[in-house]
Amino acid sequence: MMPTLGSMLVWINGTISPPEEARISVFDRGFMYGDAVYELVRFFGGEGFGLDLHVERLRSNLARTGIGGFDPDRYPAIAGELLDGLGSGDATVYLQVTRGVQMPRRHLPADDLTPTVVAVASLAKSLEDLERPAGVTVAIHPDLRRVHCDVKATSLLENVLATMSASESGAQEPILEVGGQLTEGASSSIFLVDRGSLRTPRLDEPRPILPGISRRLVVEVAGELGIECREEAVTARELREAGEAFLTSSSRVLAPVTRVDGTEIGSGTAGEVTLRIHRALVERIRGMSALHSGA
Ligand code: PLP
Repeated sequence: MMPTLGSMLVWINGTISPPEEARISVFDRGFMYGDAVYELVRFFGGEGFGLDLHVERLRSNLARTGIGGFDPDRYPAIAGELLDGLGSGDATVYLQVTRGVQMPRRHLPADDLTPTVVAVASLAKSLEDLERPAGVTVAIHPDLRRVHCDVKATSLLENVLATMSASESGAQEPILEVGGQLTEGASSSIFLVDRGSLRTPRLDEPRPILPGISRRLVVEVAGELGIECREEAVTARELREAGEAFLTSSSRVLAPVTRVDGTEIGSGTAGEVTLRIHRALVERIRGMSALHSGA
């Protein structure tokens, strides 16, 4: 579903505006070079799921890219302002920090840049609407991205091209593959269920991938449920032959994979282990909201 404009609000360097009025300079390095890092946090009832972890990942990515001048601890307050303006606590808040505006454009950043900070809040489903996980179809696609995909940067051309290719083949999300091993989705982490245990590709092999916050939360809840989770090599064939598989991302939370390259996975709906993990995540979110509302 395409969000309507009334369901979004934009914050740019401290000023809130409706999306159709939101503007940045064409000389912004985020626009010119994709010289920017970002996060997306899912809010339920005004509480950000894994918010502290997102703030820490942003801090780490700002440090790794040398983008200075923005304190990631401001994320919760910026999100709060946007959610108040939106009039709903069920939303995603995307926040991007670019290295700033530089004229004329040069690869080498100037020393005195002020970062551009853009945050966009978009209405999203409530926790009640998420109780039933929505299935997702995937297609295997070569991972042609830059090597440092562990940095959450906006340079996402290959992710976009892979998603277009998946869409052309009738799938919703490409699962990327390099050297015969799966890495991650274009905008998600991948898990499969193998004889009751979870398996997910390692963060460092065959190449660095994004340390997904929802991936980490799944590993945690699996531990709490006594479900083994192995971080190890996973092949496309193993995914195709798995009885259950699912994607995780902050926006989707968890989505059971129903088809891989057109072939049904398991029964074509969420399997038992997938549903257990999903229920545990929903319970965590519910617990987080109850904790903060004092219920
Ligand atoms: N992998 C990639 C390439 C992504 O872009 C995303 C999310 O956008 C994820 C994994 C999932 O990360 P997270 O769970 O932190 O949202």
